[in-house]
Amino acid sequence: MLAYTYIEKGKFGLTEKPKPKITDARDAIVRVTLGSICTSDLHIKHGSVPRAIPGTTVGHEMVGVVEEVGTGVTSVKPGDRVTVNVETFCGKCFFCQHGYVNNCTDLNGGWALGCRIDGGQAEYVRVPYADQGLNRIPDTVSDEQALFVGDILATGFWATRISEITEKDTVLIIGAGPTGICTLLCSMLKNPKHIIVCEKSPERVRFIREHYPDVLITTPDNCKEFVLKNSDHGGADVVLEVAGSEDSFQMAWECARPNATVTIVALYDKPLLFPLPDMYGKNLIFKTGGVDGCDCAEILQLIEEGKIDTTPLITHRFALNEIEEAYRVFENKLDGVIKIAIY
Ligand SMILES: [Zn+2]
Ligand SMILES: [Zn+2]
Repeated sequence: MLAYTYIEKGKFGLTEKPKPKITDARDAIVRVTLGSICTSDLHIKHGSVPRAIPGTTVGHEMVGVVEEVGTGVTSVKPGDRVTVNVETFCGKCFFCQHGYVNNCTDLNGGWALGCRIDGGQAEYVRVPYADQGLNRIPDTVSDEQALFVGDILATGFWATRISEITEKDTVLIIGAGPTGICTLLCSMLKNPKHIIVCEKSPERVRFIREHYPDVLITTPDNCKEFVLKNSDHGGADVVLEVAGSEDSFQMAWECARPNATVTIVALYDKPLLFPLPDMYGKNLIFKTGGVDGCDCAEILQLIEEGKIDTTPLITHRFALNEIEEAYRVFENKLDGVIKIAIY
């Protein structure tokens, strides 16, 4: 089968590999019907994910059809259409039992698919702990509607859940990339008083204006002032930092009102300064990143009910054998790309 593979730092390539086999009773083999490319794939390519293993098939955003299951799998059967979770988790350890599945203590717990074990930019993928890692897609939900459930949408859902947003809140979301938009969609479900999105790219600002006209938009230069003007208590009640730069981190805590919750969704590529003396007296609550992707069944239900729609994010479609070109477009942010579907 065809598999897009992490060959060495700076190099991915389309290679021919044998179709994966069941190696454990809790495995399933899934025929990938639709996949996507994530910024994390680019992080692997550029060598900034040290635990990624060369030779591994990349890709951790996908949906498909179950081909085969191990004898210990009970929740899905061959022929089921499923979403695949970015995280591998056993469902039994202390962290899994508490819903902190990102910290599953299994050898492959956390983000393994498309990083340490073969992922989904391929024709088939082996999914360990299939009862945890797969969710059945309702018949009325299409592959494109379900494509982001296991990764970026799970991230947005988790981030808004832990941020405990209420209807009285002004919520600030910093960064309107794909994960920022998923965070926005999930925040909208909580009906806060205002949602402010801070984004510097004119293209993305246009996208937000076009699809979500009720959302207030500001740019980084103007953000602090804008938030002050549009909130009741001297800053945002909840801040979700999805942009991932030094400046966006500083903006996140500066735009928060005293006693606000600041949720860090972003992944930074270098250590940041946490200037406690400057924050002193603001009594902020920080929550830090690493999605616990265990709400996929609930997310699929919300999609089925028409409450979440991520299909506008899919701006481009490529076949698996054109994936080099898909990466070129995604990596260089060409042609207004937000997300790419690989079929
Ligand atoms: Zn991802
Ligand atoms: Zn576990």
